[in-house]
Amino acid sequence: MNSLILVNSQHAYSPDSKQDLIPVHDDYSDILLEREAVCALSRIMEQLGGWEFIVPVSGWRSLEEQLEIYAKSLQENGPEFTAKFVAMPGHSEHQTGLAIDLGLRQPDIDFIRPAFPYEGICQKFRELAPAFGFIERYPAGKEHITGIAHEPWHFRYVGMPHSEIMTFKGLTLEEYLA
Ligand SMILES: [Zn+2]
Repeated sequence: MNSLILVNSQHAYSPDSKQDLIPVHDDYSDILLEREAVCALSRIMEQLGGWEFIVPVSGWRSLEEQLEIYAKSLQENGPEFTAKFVAMPGHSEHQTGLAIDLGLRQPDIDFIRPAFPYEGICQKFRELAPAFGFIERYPAGKEHITGIAHEPWHFRYVGMPHSEIMTFKGLTLEEYLA
């Protein structure tokens, strides 16, 4: 697994090695990530008592799942919304098993845009994440570089020390790799 693999509108996902996917947590057996990402995420959540307040919304997706999500969003939300928030099938970071959408635990959780505010437990997660290899992947102001709208809920495992360097320097994965 190459933790720095780049998947965006210009770079389609092509598996570089066999995926090693496991559930992010015993309570969410259908939400999978690469083993290394799960270990890192578990350590963050342990430190925060995070699973009490934070829900994993979407982890690894197969190409078929991304196709379904994309088609459904086109139908329900239209092309403009979909282009901003849903990656083209074959071009979703979720296919790598290194990306996860997280939501604040509440009665109604939006599957495409879960709430993950810049305060409270979610902000604590965001601040701690880089020390364990995760970055907030689609920050505000970098939409022209990432090609994806600001997504406060989408985190990507890139591994250490990359995560800390990117966060410290304010670089997206695209900028870091360039
Ligand atoms: Zn996402």
